Order: sequence, then structure tokens, then C-alpha cells
Amino acid sequence: MTDADLEAGRRLMAKLDAFAAFTDEPGRLTRLFLSDAHAKAARAFIGWCGEAGLEARIDAAGNVVARYEGKLAGAPALMIGSHIDTVRDAGRYDGNYGALAALAVVEHLAARRERLDHAIEIVAFGDEEGVRFKTTLTGSRALAGTYPEEALDQRDADGILMREALTAFGGDPDRAASLRARNVAAFVEAHIEQGPVLEAEGLPLGIVTAINGATRLEVGVGGVAGHAGTTPMNLRRDALTAAAEMALAVEARARGEADLVGTVGRFDVQPGAVNVIPGHVQFSIDLRSPDDARRVKAAADIEAGLSAVAAARKVGVRIERAHDANAYACDPGVVAGIARAVEAVGVPPRRLPSGAGHDTMAMGRLCPAGMLFVRCKDGISHNPLESITVEDCAMGLEALTLFARNFSAS
Ligand SMILES: [Zn+2]
Repeated sequence: MTDADLEAGRRLMAKLDAFAAFTDEPGRLTRLFLSDAHAKAARAFIGWCGEAGLEARIDAAGNVVARYEGKLAGAPALMIGSHIDTVRDAGRYDGNYGALAALAVVEHLAARRERLDHAIEIVAFGDEEGVRFKTTLTGSRALAGTYPEEALDQRDADGILMREALTAFGGDPDRAASLRARNVAAFVEAHIEQGPVLEAEGLPLGIVTAINGATRLEVGVGGVAGHAGTTPMNLRRDALTAAAEMALAVEARARGEADLVGTVGRFDVQPGAVNVIPGHVQFSIDLRSPDDARRVKAAADIEAGLSAVAAARKVGVRIERAHDANAYACDPGVVAGIARAVEAVGVPPRRLPSGAGHDTMAMGRLCPAGMLFVRCKDGISHNPLESITVEDCAMGLEALTLFARNFSAS
């Protein structure tokens, strides 16, 4: 890395720090979709675009978008970006890193008056975290032409309609559904990893191969509640010990397969008294994999395994599918291009799936899409402790810039 690259990383870090001041809650970073803080952040982003000579604007769906023309006006574009909304009490890098890095790529080119064969469009999506309304990815879905119009009728906790909030923000609810981006050759998103893999392997950057699909199961286990003192062990139908064995079966199945992750995250024991054998347990299973067929097979195996445990322990089991979402396989051409850029900055090209959802999933419906991951401290995100180093920040920006420069729209 040259001194100039490191300096560009420092400037990006400083912008990320300044950007974190746009919050809806004093003392911590909370920037919900279409909120006052989101509006202020969008205005700051537009201002910074202006300093780089770019005319940015808010589109109908509440994205901030700007275009840096190539050598010929009207050329196909490489779109680069991420989201600038956050969860409550967020870190300052999730989403914001990718949006401000996109701007930094254009600042770099504009400062050198460098025009590419393709245009670059930068985008700061507004609705990735899905905290305020019961929707998510409406910004990227608008650009992809898959806008969920029913989202406009959602109300937030204060009863404000998304349609009204979008209008106040400067968007146009009547045009959001017909926004679909045109002439976009590919989309790339830089994002913190939000997991511990890169740090564990001592790598600053990673290339995302797929965004995991997810299955969520709701499991009810029915035993017989009884007196903890009078019921002999061999005459019990304990819902909790059965459910515990089921949770271990989920873990064992997930451990047996690379890139499959399974989590029992909620466990509710009834009646929950110190001297009563548990009569009922309700628990959740979250299953994710970059490969849909393997996820579906794992879910079926787990359902069979749970039924076997229930039969052996003479308890009832009821399993419901609460959620099913397919994986998005990143475009092989974009993945290869990101891998070349990562290698060119001197980092071994580590490919890995993303366990979390991203705007890239939606953009993949419009055009070839992919992601670059940047290592984050302890894999922590959605937390003010989120942290990246200035060197990793710079290296991510350098790789993104190289990708943009070497990209070919044909
Ligand atoms: Zn994010």
C-alpha cells in the first residue's frame, strides 16, 4: 500500500466518524429509514458528492444516487454502494463503509480527471435494516424493479405511514415502483464482514461467493408436567430434556457440513418452576447455507431427527416453517473481478459466504452483483463496538477502486 492509499483510507475513516454524528438518538448511533437523521445524512452525502463535482439527488424510493460519467456520456454503468440506515445503537461501519467507500472511489477518479470506459453510479440505500417499518431492502428493490408497493402502507410505531415519511424525505411513493435502474452493467457492494472468519485467518479482505439462504423453524415439544419429587425418572415425559436433545441434534447436523450454520436462539420452558417437570417447550431453529439444496436437505434431516427424539422420549413434537428464503449466488464474473483486485493489493483471495442479508441480494435481480468484505474486530456488528482499522479501511478502498478501474461492461 502506498502512502497515498493510506491517506485515502484515513480520509474515509474521518468521513465515517463525521457521518456517525447523524443520529436520531443523542449519545448513540440510531439512524432509521426516512428519519430526520437519515435526511441529514443524505444531505451531507449529497454535499460531499458536490465537492467531488457530482450532482447527487434523492430518488423516488429514498436512495441517494449520483453518476460519474465515463469517457462517453451515456455509457453503461458500474453501480457501487451500500446502505446508510442503521439499527438502534449501531456501529458506524455497517453499510456506511460501503456507501462512503463508493463515493471515495469517485473522488479518487475525479481528482485525477480520470474517465473510464464505463460510468460509475454511486448509491446510498436507505432501507436495509428494516427497523422502522416491517419492510426491508425497498431502496435496492426499487432499483432492481421489484419494489414491494404494499410496503408504502406500513406504519411505524408512531403510526406514521411509510408513504408519508417517504414524501417528507424527498422521495416519490407514486414513482418508486417504476424506478427500475437502466443501463447498469453490474453492482458491487463493499461491507464489513460482520463475522469473525477473516480476523481468525489474519486476512483484511474477503470475496463473497453467496449470500446465505435461511430457513426458520418453530418447534413445540409437548411432554407431561409433573411433581419433581414424586415422579420416578423412568416414568417421566420431560419436554425440556427432549428439547435439549433436539437442540444438540441441530448443532450436530450443522457441524457436519461446511458453511451450514444452525442456531437454537429462543427456548421457552413451561411452566418454568423449580419443582415441576417441564410440560412444554417452544424453541426456534435458524438454519443458513449458501446452497439452497443443502439447506433444504438439512432442514428435512433435522425434522426427521427431532421426530426420532420425540418418539424415543414419548413426547409430542410440532414443527412449523416460519420463514424460507433462497440464497443469492454472487455473479461468477464479479466474484472473479473482486478476487483479482484483492490479489492485486497483496491479499490472498479468500472466498466466503455471507451469513447476513444485504442489498446485493436485491440488486442481483437487476444485474450481475457481488460483494467485497472488510475484516472487522471480533466479528462484532450491530453494536457500537463495531471497529475496523485504518489499514483495512484503506485496503478495502484500494481493492474497490481497482475493481472499478478494471471493470469491463462488455
Ligand atoms: Zn449492512
